[in-house]
Amino acid sequence: MVRMRFATATLCLAGLALAAAPSADIFRPSKEDQVKLGQRASESIRKEEKILPDTHPRVLFLRRVANKVLDAIPAKEREKEIWKFSFDVIDSKDVNAFALPGGPIYFFNGLIDKMETEDQLAGVLAHEITHIRNQHWASSYADTMKRRMGLTLVLTLLNANDTMFSVAGVADELIFNLPYSRKHETESDRVGFDLVVKAGYNPRGLADMMRVFAKEGGKTPEFVSTHPEPGKRADAIERRARELKVAVPEQRPLPANVRQSANGQGVKAGTKGGR
Ligand SMILES: [Zn+2]
Repeated sequence: MVRMRFATATLCLAGLALAAAPSADIFRPSKEDQVKLGQRASESIRKEEKILPDTHPRVLFLRRVANKVLDAIPAKEREKEIWKFSFDVIDSKDVNAFALPGGPIYFFNGLIDKMETEDQLAGVLAHEITHIRNQHWASSYADTMKRRMGLTLVLTLLNANDTMFSVAGVADELIFNLPYSRKHETESDRVGFDLVVKAGYNPRGLADMMRVFAKEGGKTPEFVSTHPEPGKRADAIERRARELKVAVPEQRPLPANVRQSANGQGVKAGTKGGR
């Protein structure tokens, strides 16, 4: 009961805050700050992790596919964007991929080991690229800070008409571990779907990868966050793929020098066929 009353009071305060400053969000990092943060975090990853060299076939291929996906973004939109995209592979058996604010994207070798097709790689890439382009980290960060600091303080600061954000003040924990919301995941699936289709890929690749991890359970990669449930997200991708008005190609196998040969357990591509 007490908790419920508190919730009501919080909602009222939130309403007030919105009325006071409809557009300002003092906790939200600017695009420039997102880029700075991502570069800083990326530098620390490069110091701490073993990164595959630029000449490695996996890295070359990842970047080739990434560029195809980026090329599918309308030129008018890309011109306005300041993101500093980069694509690298961490030499670790971890099964994951993640995007840092402002552009850096990392894939772990363990995730690519589980892939069979270029379309699966493109699907995960487009999902992560969308987290960056739609500034999902910045939204999560602003929401988290508001929750942590309390709305009374927010109201005071809103009146100061200033920003609370400082690049130096962001803890690594918040850069690496902030979860995306359900809305962010759905948006990345949806926008990513459109991007891969435009780039000439079969959009079922991402659904394939989700199904693999939906079955496995346990620690799952970023793009299979616990909510919404990955099986449902994969179904939604399938549904959209069936409703597509344009033909999509069959999934193409990863080149032999990109696939894991020693102990890889490649993923079977879900549905064959153009539609
Ligand atoms: Zn995601």
